[in-house]
Amino acid sequence: MGTVTLRNLKKSFGVVEVIKGVNIDIDDGEFVILVGPSGCGKSTLLRMVAGLEDVTGGDVAIDGQVITNVAPKDRDIAMVFQNYALYPHFTVEKNMGFSLKLAGVPKDQITKQVAAVAQSLGLTDYLQRYPKELSGGQRQRVATGRAIVRNPKVFLFDEPLSNLDAKLRVQMRSEIRSLQQRLGVTSIYVTHDQVEAMTMADKIVVLRGGVVEQIGSPLDLYDRPANTFVASFIGSPA
Ligand code: ADP
Ligand code: MG
Repeated sequence: MGTVTLRNLKKSFGVVEVIKGVNIDIDDGEFVILVGPSGCGKSTLLRMVAGLEDVTGGDVAIDGQVITNVAPKDRDIAMVFQNYALYPHFTVEKNMGFSLKLAGVPKDQITKQVAAVAQSLGLTDYLQRYPKELSGGQRQRVATGRAIVRNPKVFLFDEPLSNLDAKLRVQMRSEIRSLQQRLGVTSIYVTHDQVEAMTMADKIVVLRGGVVEQIGSPLDLYDRPANTFVASFIGSPA
């Protein structure tokens, strides 16, 4: 299982409120895309779900259990960042196994789990390489593999493809989506790219200035945008 519930979530930096009471319900296995213009609070919202940012108000729950004050490492959540944040001095194998090592998983078990994930991502031949010896797409796969290996209930992606060229981006969209469907892991995926949102999402959340403007399927948003902002963002005639 892995339902995610955000209840009246708020975040202020000093006197500036950047997330203004957000409510989102995500079903188990759902792929939800969070879109909105730069600076609207997408990363902040994701970081609160991950526990990397304190919450000013409201709650985050997984499977109905409130985890608002649970430490990031104790949440069943894995995050893939835009810049990948791979350890440059670790091989691919070590990058992917590091969190398991920290969690005290025995070495032979780590080797086995990493090998299985590497295979599912086409990385078997690259396990002994270092990040600088990989292409952008391969680095992206390692970052994804590092997230998968712990078997999280929830994946968080923060603009994971924005450093890739257009062609690779299209390929990685379907790779990420088919992997997610195969694993059935509930996912929240942030992008400012409406094409990405319309083609990948089960459900889209449109955020503007820290407020949810609309939540719906790509078709809902296209056919029945809640307002002109959503309409122009999604690209349908207002
Ligand atoms: P997005 O990911 O949608 O581009 P962010 O979540 O990064 O937006 O930022 C939302 C707003 O919060 C922006 O105005 C940003 O400047 C502000 N912000 C983000 N992080 C901090 C921080 N650590 N301190 C102060 N302001 C911040
Ligand atoms: Mg961001």
